Amino acid sequence: MIAGIDLGTTNSLIGVYESGFPTLLADSEGKRLIPSVVFYPENGIPVVGREGLRMQALHPERAAASVKRFIGRRFGEEETEALSGPKGSPVTLPINGKNLTPEQVSAEILKTLKVVAEERLGTSVNRVVITVPAYFNDAQRAATRRAGELAGFVVERILSEPTAAALAYGLDRLQENSKVAVYDLGGGTFDLSILRLDNGVFQVLSTHGDTRLGGDDLDEAIAGLLLREAGITALTLEMKVRLKEAARAAKELLSNEESTAVLLPFMEGSKSLEVPLTRSQVEEICGPIIARTRAHCLRALEDAGLKSEEIDQVILVGGSTRMPLVQRLVAEIFGKQPNLSQHPDEAVALGAVLQGAILEGNLRNIVLLDVTPLSLGIETFGGLMNVIIPRNTTIPTKAGEMFTNAVAGQSGMKIIILQGERELAGDNWTLGSFQIPFPPLPKGAARVGVQFSIDADGILQVLARDTVTGSEKIVEIQSAVEVSDEAVEAMLAGSLEHAIEDMDARIFTEARLKAEEMLPAVKVALEQFGSELPESEVLDIREKSSEVQAALASKETTRLNQAISSLDDATQTLATKLIERGMG
Ligand code: AMP
Repeated sequence: MIAGIDLGTTNSLIGVYESGFPTLLADSEGKRLIPSVVFYPENGIPVVGREGLRMQALHPERAAASVKRFIGRRFGEEETEALSGPKGSPVTLPINGKNLTPEQVSAEILKTLKVVAEERLGTSVNRVVITVPAYFNDAQRAATRRAGELAGFVVERILSEPTAAALAYGLDRLQENSKVAVYDLGGGTFDLSILRLDNGVFQVLSTHGDTRLGGDDLDEAIAGLLLREAGITALTLEMKVRLKEAARAAKELLSNEESTAVLLPFMEGSKSLEVPLTRSQVEEICGPIIARTRAHCLRALEDAGLKSEEIDQVILVGGSTRMPLVQRLVAEIFGKQPNLSQHPDEAVALGAVLQGAILEGNLRNIVLLDVTPLSLGIETFGGLMNVIIPRNTTIPTKAGEMFTNAVAGQSGMKIIILQGERELAGDNWTLGSFQIPFPPLPKGAARVGVQFSIDADGILQVLARDTVTGSEKIVEIQSAVEVSDEAVEAMLAGSLEHAIEDMDARIFTEARLKAEEMLPAVKVALEQFGSELPESEVLDIREKSSEVQAALASKETTRLNQAISSLDDATQTLATKLIERGMG
């Protein structure tokens, strides 16, 4: 049996495929949502879930919550500002005098889910599918997998959340080529993914989002409104917590009711907070926050090369999509009503269960595919990015290219693996590097094949093989450069903003490499055959060579290209002589 797990930032769920149905399993209290909170007591074993949440309120320093934000990340990245540790090393969380990794904490949550399932089913549950956001990079996926292994599971598949949700909505029964938008607005994060059904296979065409946009922001805004209405200014920490809880409860209630009243006794001294609240007030204050999701939807559509009217189905995931305001906005953006047939909080877990059943052969086989969020490639001579797998390529995927030595006698090649959208290697992120040795050869004689392959879990393997000697090296990128999702956004924005200068830098670099190759070659050829040419031609070649040199120094691309082209023309006879000599 393969269980399905939605390992969420705030809550987690587990389910299995039983008697032909996907079923989510409840704990001993009858609850299916298990809070993703782990409490570490002074002595004894960690306490997870609702009990952990209760203990966290008493001793927050001994509890770990929302660790999904940190999994697979390093100190110094944007998501980790609140933590301190040596920049660049994997994040650890100081809890109860120990430094715990997010994987260790997540493993405790997973162990609890395992117990819930085993108690409920009366048999052991060892194999799982775990979901992760579509934008998770290699390192985050690998760390999630490690957490599963630490909990004693064999992790059969790491699955993207939107793909899981689409499966849960039964969208695999749509027509070929149908396009689906998955709008996921939870407590703390938002993302929009566009999928296409292709030969019975889901492909994620694009994904966009904001890791800091969700129901928590709405609670904050509503809490502010309540304070203003009540004329209360100073609050203790405890009051703030109570106020936010009340704001959240009112918000959730107002998804079904038109009005309510918030009552909190003794907020400021003996002063109580008593405020009537309507849905339209909540909509007014939450509107601008929710409206921020629109730009991400439009970007995802643009990345997928689709217009909103080409989307066949829009599905909702995450508790915040229960708000009528959100549903109206989604309907407006996509020009059609969203499909409300599933529980938005359970769709992802149900999809994971279905994927488990598919892997076991209990359901007709559909392979689930994903895309690379950013381009992957290697650095080539001159410091340029050479893309091997472009951004938004469907995975699993494999691609390769042949490289040669740029310098005579060089005895090896350094493979620098890059991720990003910029033309110059230095503007992209380095994921790793290694050396592939080969015997010294003349320039251009080495043949090194470089192959990138990304498996279904999004783990990247880079293979480099010297085809002359057959020696090869393989590197697995478990810890892709730890970048925050904001940084991915920034990379995309940067590549747009610098598109023109980047392209110019690439064209100049390519021209420079050509000039640097040409000048010494022309010099050598002149030494050999200069005496066989009319003096005026030799002079012309010398002049044009100097112009190339001057153009190189001027760093002007157009001038350099023109100079190269003139030198090319001027050396026609010389080149013919070289070729004749070569053939002779
Ligand atoms: P999730 O991360 O998917 O579990 O979503 C949690 C978020 O959904 C929290 O911010 C909740 O306040 C919000 N939420 C849950 N139910 C409702 C509801 N009925 N109306 C509005 N927001 C809700």
